Amino acid sequence: MQLHLVVNTFGADLQRRYGEKIYKLTLHGGFSCPNRDGTLGRGGCTFCNVASIIDESIQVKSISDQLTSQAAQMKKSKRYLAYFQAYTSTYAEVEILKNMYEQALASADIVGLCVGTRPDCVPDEALALLADYQAQGYEVWLELGLQTANDRTLHAINRGHTYADYYQTAQKARKLGIKVCAHLIVGLPKESKPDNLITLNKVLDCGIDGLKLHPLHVVEGSIMAKAWRAGRLKVLSLDEYVDIAGEMIRNTPKEILYHRVSANARKPTLLAPDWCENHWLSMNAIDHNLRQFGVQGSALGDSYCFTDSPYLTNIFAK
Ligand code: SF4
Repeated sequence: MQLHLVVNTFGADLQRRYGEKIYKLTLHGGFSCPNRDGTLGRGGCTFCNVASIIDESIQVKSISDQLTSQAAQMKKSKRYLAYFQAYTSTYAEVEILKNMYEQALASADIVGLCVGTRPDCVPDEALALLADYQAQGYEVWLELGLQTANDRTLHAINRGHTYADYYQTAQKARKLGIKVCAHLIVGLPKESKPDNLITLNKVLDCGIDGLKLHPLHVVEGSIMAKAWRAGRLKVLSLDEYVDIAGEMIRNTPKEILYHRVSANARKPTLLAPDWCENHWLSMNAIDHNLRQFGVQGSALGDSYCFTDSPYLTNIFAK
């Protein structure tokens, strides 16, 4: 599988710009979430159990210990992005954020930060901090969990924010030169392909630098797990997911970077769909779909084309 030939992937873009592979190291900054601590709600989004996407035990380690232990396991890379992934990684006083982010940036192998958060939880002070790191030459990405632009669905899944919150934060961040990556979930209850394409278009209209697509996972410990066990929640088949993701990618302008086109969940937390246990199943199927029906941007009449320069060929042959 060579997804970078049919999709403008973040990994290939980093490799092109830095001249080597850059991997993301996943950090737990010990942040909480306003949708769990009672500020906005308790119980969280109906699909969420953070333990399904990150090992909660790593938060007892310092930021530098987390980076060092993960970097030691990487064989193909020597430089990294520090990815604050767990919970809401801008949900703290700005001095605490500064301390966390700068612990990560202090490592010689770190080229920048990816900060995952909710769109309604990014104060101006946090944006100013990130803009400052960007101005210092670091790679900086604000990863906003939107999931869908449909406010009715956002309410039904208990997100506690609206599309307008996302719009406002994404606009502010981009005006400061911070790159924004939106996280979108495919397969949310009562949504189908047209809804996903509407969400994609709204995000594109707002202005975006990167996208992450995830199939809806039902995970143990989430509110959705109950509905799924009671037979009240249907999940997508692999074919359905690939069909929708492929169409979204074809409708995405070629310059937008895909940070992810699918995702898996950690065992034993994943309940459904079964195919999400194996990351490569959906990746290979999406690759095949794009080769068969058209690559990124093809539905817009401006297809992504991987530059065939000897420089790039040499890098990717390694
Ligand atoms: S998905 Fe994010 S915002 Fe929602 S409950 Fe989980 S950590 Fe909080």
